[in-house]
Amino acid sequence: MSRPFNFSAGPSALPIDVLLQVRDELLDFAGTGVSVMEISHRSQPFMDFAHATDAAVRRVLAVPSDYHVLLLQGGSYLQFSQIPMNLFHKTNTADYIHTGLWSEQAANAARQYGIVRTIASSHETGFDRVPEINESHINLDAAYLHYTENETAQGLQFSKPPISSIPLVCDACSSLMSKPIDIAAHDLVYASAQKNMGIAGVTLVLLNPAILDKPLAATPQALDFSIQAKKQSLLNTPSTFSWYVMGLMMEWIERTGGIEVLHEINKKKSRHLYNVIDGSNGFYINHVLPDYRSINNVPFHISERNLEDLFVREAQENGFHGLKGHQSTGGLRASIYNAVTLDAVQELALFMREFARTHG
Ligand SMILES: *Cc1c(COP(=O)(O)O)cnc(C)c1O
Repeated sequence: MSRPFNFSAGPSALPIDVLLQVRDELLDFAGTGVSVMEISHRSQPFMDFAHATDAAVRRVLAVPSDYHVLLLQGGSYLQFSQIPMNLFHKTNTADYIHTGLWSEQAANAARQYGIVRTIASSHETGFDRVPEINESHINLDAAYLHYTENETAQGLQFSKPPISSIPLVCDACSSLMSKPIDIAAHDLVYASAQKNMGIAGVTLVLLNPAILDKPLAATPQALDFSIQAKKQSLLNTPSTFSWYVMGLMMEWIERTGGIEVLHEINKKKSRHLYNVIDGSNGFYINHVLPDYRSINNVPFHISERNLEDLFVREAQENGFHGLKGHQSTGGLRASIYNAVTLDAVQELALFMREFARTHG
């Protein structure tokens, strides 16, 4: 069986070990004789699995013990709205840092519920850096400061969380579990599973209960963080299969050695590709300043733009899948999340060098 090297931005590659385990357990989950898709989310085998997943998330990410660990539906996209709905009760304003496509979408969604102030942006320099964040620009009446840890389309990443005197909220959709993120330095961190830790259908929300008050009027129960926490994310039927795959991913992450080990591998993977780009004499271009380059998504252009379609085609023919850039930015992009192996990245680096040699 030969599988392509998969650089898809999300949903994205899963470790082969996890896929095989899913296959092996498909007809018999935890000795029940039926698949995980066919049992109640309130049955003991599923509840046991859910508790084990919760414990693994807490261990792997060093989640403070009083924080809620929620597995919700609706993706990170719904969090763009669910967060203001839950945090705008006392003051319906929040601060946002603008670093690209996803932080902009998050801010736009929040604007429906109150006043959103952009306190820093790297728009003017074409999102080539994390903007300087002057603490004096943080509005003390804001409910929270929101930032996007890794801009998946722009390939731009924070090296550390911004310092904030107000509650700090982080969209870590494309980076959670790929590098150490200090959860205790945040009040809310969210990420859908389909990038570094599973498949679409569950979104992990790590939440400091101290920032919760009543949600806005007319907030549905399913979107009320307090109710979801009280019900252990089992208010209604969750996406049990996605939950299960995320649980297997947590086991895989721990088997691999945890987040520090994955971080080293992910840094190495990204260095390979940036080295090819920077060493290509301008054939390939990535315009993000080196200090801010993402270890999860490596976007690039070919200086002769009309070669980009050919690149995608030849890549596909050579077994490299998912290299087309985000529709908003165009160009090319290699997403190199946890499950993408160093070997796959080395093969891609060779292919890129060869493509530049023959077409440069
Ligand atoms: C993918 C992504 C989202 C959206 O996630 P969905 O699961 O599609 O809702 C939000 N923010 C970032 C940074 C992303 O990469």
